[in-house]
Amino acid sequence: MFIHDNISANDKNHLVMGGCDLCYLADKYKTPLYVMDEEKVRDNMRAYKNAIEDYYNSNGMVLYASKALSNLYMYKIAKEEGIGVDVVSGGELYTALKAGFDASKIYFHGNNKTYDEIELGIKSKIACFVADSINELDMIDRISGENNTVTNVMFRIKPGVDAHTHEFIATGQIDSKFGFAIENNEAYEIIKYAKNLKNIMVVGIHCHIGSQIFELEPFCEAARIMIKFMTKVKNELGVNIKRLNLGGGFGIKYVKEDTPVVYPKYIEAVSKVLKEECEKEGVDLPYVLMEPGRSVVGDAGVTLYTVGSIKEIKDVRKYVSVDGGMGDNPRYILYEAEYDAAVANRADAKEEEVVTVCGKCCESGDIIMKDAKLPKLKSGDILCVMSTGAYNYSMSSNYNRICRPAMVFVSGGKEKLAVKRETYEDLIRNDLM
Ligand SMILES: *Cc1c(COP(=O)(O)O)cnc(C)c1O
Repeated sequence: MFIHDNISANDKNHLVMGGCDLCYLADKYKTPLYVMDEEKVRDNMRAYKNAIEDYYNSNGMVLYASKALSNLYMYKIAKEEGIGVDVVSGGELYTALKAGFDASKIYFHGNNKTYDEIELGIKSKIACFVADSINELDMIDRISGENNTVTNVMFRIKPGVDAHTHEFIATGQIDSKFGFAIENNEAYEIIKYAKNLKNIMVVGIHCHIGSQIFELEPFCEAARIMIKFMTKVKNELGVNIKRLNLGGGFGIKYVKEDTPVVYPKYIEAVSKVLKEECEKEGVDLPYVLMEPGRSVVGDAGVTLYTVGSIKEIKDVRKYVSVDGGMGDNPRYILYEAEYDAAVANRADAKEEEVVTVCGKCCESGDIIMKDAKLPKLKSGDILCVMSTGAYNYSMSSNYNRICRPAMVFVSGGKEKLAVKRETYEDLIRNDLM
């Protein structure tokens, strides 16, 4: 009945997730409210972790791409589940370290890391930087020298694979701000250059072809290209690439029509390709890293809103306003993203009209669901928007000086407040006059 099977209804006709009544949570913590199903997050992490054990002889590690949802509690969960994380900024690294995350399982990405970010990474002894430009590589070399250390580096490579997804989230093609292309030799040249830097240890190569991808083949194709490249680098430059990071990008279900691949299938398919290609090329199987972000947290989260004003413009459109919007979920305004929703206080309500659910920000594009088939909503209803666990809280803002919502994790009928709601005082915290 609901798009995710971890959501059900109780005898009060309220939605339930993680054994908690969502109306109770909305009442206790107020709306908007992010709610995360902790077991689902853990299950998603385990699905990837187990797949590396089952299909690739445990010769690898799952890194949770923490930009999808970053806060202290998420890093604690990843730590407990025994996986690594990737970070893309000093702020994410700082949060991970504060959560007690083991630095030796942290990989640092990003296309323009600053001196301070690199220094923090080196001083904290993170596992590896994923270098994205020559400037950055030189800076990592220099800062490593200043700290009398040799730093592990992987290189972000553009394999030239075209994944079918929104152009803003496709990253494997040559026209991308990320990485070094194979087809014009940039990738080869940077490794040739890095090999002679004193404070750099070349340990691996990385690619990330995009996000919200529903097919296996682009990942298999990227793996083939990366193994070929590894072989070339080994034969011609004598550089032995030991780690291969194949990124994230695995799609999740946002609307009924979405048909995601069962997550372990990615690792099963890619493992097969790696074994075949390495055998063919006569190179050792690399240690493999996979970086799921969206698919770890996306389908584990919902956002609860209270319905406010309803405006029916005859023969045009019916707008249903909720008490949040692009501040807590900017994905429509960024990508025209689609969502599914249900009514938390009337779980069995049938979908009977097409409306546009909009937020309360001063932007016409401040929309959560455009032309969505929903039950007839009334002011005061609690709307539960599904699949908001990824790239919602982590992309949130204070636009219009609206306080960011709280985040609650639910499990076994109990809830934990992981992030409290911002207050007006928080909003002026850094204003000096
Ligand atoms: C964003 C990103 C990921 C995670 O992507 P998802 O689509 O959320 O799985 C992994 N690796 C890198 C380098 C990324 O930039």
